[in-house]
Amino acid sequence: MILFPRFLKKLHPLIHRGYLFLKPAYWRLRTPAQKRFDIKLQYIFIGCFIGVLATALVIPAAHRLISYPTDEAEVRFSDLITEEPLPPEDVLQKEVQTDDLLLNEAETQIIPILLQLNKNETLSGLLTRADVSMADALAASESLSLITDLRKLQPGQSFELFFNEDNIFQGLKMEMRNGDIISTFKNTDGDFVPQSKEGKIETQLIALEGIIQSSFAAAAQEADVPSSIVQQVTRALDGQINFRTDLKAGEPFKIIYEKKTTETGKEIGKSQLLYVSLTTNRDTYERYYFVDGMGVQGFYNEYGESAPQTIMKRPLGRGRISSGFGTRIHPILGYKIHHDGVDFPAPIGTPIPAAADGVIVRLGRNGGYGKYIKIKHNNTYSTAYGHMNAYNKELRVGSYVKRGETIGYVGSTGRSTGPHLHFEVIKNNRQVNPLKTYTLPKRTLKNQTLKAFKERAKEINPDYVYPSEN
Ligand SMILES: [Zn+2]
Repeated sequence: MILFPRFLKKLHPLIHRGYLFLKPAYWRLRTPAQKRFDIKLQYIFIGCFIGVLATALVIPAAHRLISYPTDEAEVRFSDLITEEPLPPEDVLQKEVQTDDLLLNEAETQIIPILLQLNKNETLSGLLTRADVSMADALAASESLSLITDLRKLQPGQSFELFFNEDNIFQGLKMEMRNGDIISTFKNTDGDFVPQSKEGKIETQLIALEGIIQSSFAAAAQEADVPSSIVQQVTRALDGQINFRTDLKAGEPFKIIYEKKTTETGKEIGKSQLLYVSLTTNRDTYERYYFVDGMGVQGFYNEYGESAPQTIMKRPLGRGRISSGFGTRIHPILGYKIHHDGVDFPAPIGTPIPAAADGVIVRLGRNGGYGKYIKIKHNNTYSTAYGHMNAYNKELRVGSYVKRGETIGYVGSTGRSTGPHLHFEVIKNNRQVNPLKTYTLPKRTLKNQTLKAFKERAKEINPDYVYPSEN
């Protein structure tokens, strides 16, 4: 009790005074003039408190009263379509009644209103924003929720809303991220009937060419090659071409990649590099992307050979090593222990690349390793990554990863003293020193797989000829 007012005194003399007012001993010692002053001060305290409270309560209430009804009544969303010629009522009714509730024909006659979902807005919220009656808004959302999880809608998702000529809401349509189209439209009984239709996904091959002047990156940018494709080119030729020194000015390059789009032209998934041709001061390098019957993806030259690949020694680049491979005193356990990998300290969230092409054989918590990924590169080599903060969400056990592709992020999960990557190279089931060089031999496609490769290469690049047939 003695400490408490002192602490208040330090905090602020006024707060301390407020505390003193509560003590009878304080009042006994004050002269009448001092008491009058204190009472005035009390009034100021109470006045301020009431003032703050009133502001907090009154302003939002007043805002609701004044601003909303007037604005919204003047600009109704339905006014936006009154200028469009509307079909006669029977045509519209017929369209709405037909089995094809997606209203492909009606769409050409009614201009739908396009609205995008705001942050923290529900579908029924969006509908009431567009002057749809509360009952219709709820009924439409409820019917859509039968075929999709509306809680997973992202802000920015757009909806097409359809109204009849009396501005009565008839239904809505939306394109999902995978290209599927879902909709719900009123039937003759006035009930909303949901429907989902698989979207048409179009695969486009895009060929781009350019001439290297200063650097490949600059030439690629000039030729409008997307940066994700530039990255794939560098990965496909990593270790074979030195992009800084080998490329010759004046030489052409060619890139073909695949892009998937929905009906409305929205891009879905990642674009995939299918072909690249680059000329260096030594040779012309051509690489074709090919997935074999086992699902193994890779880049192959015109002979159907993949380049030998080295396992990255330092996946995080030239950083510090906090603990090398071999015997040491463990910082937490306190006794001598063999360290099976190399520790690279790095800030939490630093992306961790796959050290070489391979298949994820383990992904999940693994005791002292914390969040852990193991990649199998071939029958001899695997690499392992520990103490991760998070995984690349797209990856699962069985996913195929390419050298340099981000598999997760640095963290400090498991038995760890601080954020770092614990990295292991495993050769024939035994950990070996990751700082030595290990090379995955080139892969040569044979027989049926080679035949399939030749066909695919011809599909990607009509100029393709298998070299021995030349
Ligand atoms: Zn370690």
